[in-house]
Amino acid sequence: MIYDYKCRQCGEVFEVWATLSEKEKGLQPECPKCQSKETKQMMGALSIGGGSTKSGGNGGGMPPPVCGPGAGCC
Ligand SMILES: [Zn+2]
Repeated sequence: MIYDYKCRQCGEVFEVWATLSEKEKGLQPECPKCQSKETKQMMGALSIGGGSTKSGGNGGGMPPPVCGPGAGCC
């Protein structure tokens, strides 16, 4: 897994590759720019799309009455 981290010291954003077990141990990578360990993981970077609610068209529209040969209405 690749995690995005941000340095609290200099504001550098960097990616850290770590396994899940490494992450569970409490990963605290150091900033590649200033070597500070005051880093925090950036959450919610992924924007989840969706939520397109379509209104259900013409609801319950009756078809026009058919009048012609064979219909027997005229
Ligand atoms: Zn830094």
